[in-house]
Amino acid sequence: MSIVSSTSGLVGSSPQSEKKSSLLKASRLDEEVLCSKDDGLRPKRLSDYIGQSELKQVLGIAVKAAIGRGDALDHVLLYGPPGVGKTTMALVLAEELQVQSRITSAPALERPRDIVGLLVNLKPREILFIDEIHRLPRVAEELLYPAMEDRRLDLTLGKGSTARTRTLDLPPFTLIGATTRAGALSSPLRDRFGLIHRLDFYDLNDLQAIVHRTSSLLDLSITSEGCKEIAGRCRGTPRIANRLLRRVRDFAAVRGGASSIDACLVDEALNLHQVDSRGLDASDRRFLSLLLMSHGGGPVGIETLAASLGEDSSTLETVIEPFLLQIGFIQRTSRGRVITTSGRNHLEKI
Ligand code: ADP
Repeated sequence: MSIVSSTSGLVGSSPQSEKKSSLLKASRLDEEVLCSKDDGLRPKRLSDYIGQSELKQVLGIAVKAAIGRGDALDHVLLYGPPGVGKTTMALVLAEELQVQSRITSAPALERPRDIVGLLVNLKPREILFIDEIHRLPRVAEELLYPAMEDRRLDLTLGKGSTARTRTLDLPPFTLIGATTRAGALSSPLRDRFGLIHRLDFYDLNDLQAIVHRTSSLLDLSITSEGCKEIAGRCRGTPRIANRLLRRVRDFAAVRGGASSIDACLVDEALNLHQVDSRGLDASDRRFLSLLLMSHGGGPVGIETLAASLGEDSSTLETVIEPFLLQIGFIQRTSRGRVITTSGRNHLEKI
């Protein structure tokens, strides 16, 4: 299986309005760009993919059935927070189906010809992976409807009175869409996916297994306590686990001495990077302190928080809030965000 990226690569160019994204977004996006390239750490087969057992079971059955019928896998929509393995799963599915996958990101499909180019070049049963699919331009989305449903591409050639429509048949293919915001997808698009699945944050055992797997791929010696310490501080997210492991590796290499990375060394390295015992970084703590100190713990609207932090609200909603909600440090109410007692206690402790 090989991967073909669209002209603009996996992480597409952002629209003008989003160019002024904040430092936080830029740094986390940089991380995303770096990790999105195949760094040799992505699991290749379903059996290597750690956790998400329900998802693996459902997709495993769908893959076997599709292979049995000699048909393409049904279209798949994967949603969940950044870094939990959506792109990885798309690549795993291509490997399981023994087909090529073409990878792009919705903002890269600005002109109709971008999506048309990808669709007409698809070979039977191939996978088209569109990241951030909630940001698909309207024209691209409308071209996708008949393509997904009837394997047909309706093209309008020429303009005005000379305009003609032409229909092209497409081979059976699988569209895999990934999004952090399933609710932002239009319902006609969402309804055309046969398999819709949420990827959750990972539990401690699965994260420990991921850190263990990555350390053996990186040829690092680390104790199981060391793996556990990283697992507990990576916000339930494999991408962050791998990133923290790399920072710990750097720290261990420069410090020297230890033959194996243990929990103490992980703690020292991660404290240096301001990642606390629950995995919160400086931006998360700034969010919580603002909520507590400037707004008396809430409720406060997301736009007000975004303005005070100099972030855009969608960054807060997709990057910062999901994990704080998951660990019960904040709550979303109809009147705005509220810090919980555990959130307060955590801030007081540090
Ligand atoms: P997303 O597309 O959801 O933002 P990715 O698929 O790019 O996340 O995953 C980020 C990184 O985390 C990958 O490079 C991969 O190495 C690692 N990863 C993700 N999910 C898993 C998993 N289930 N098992 C092992 N590693 C994983």
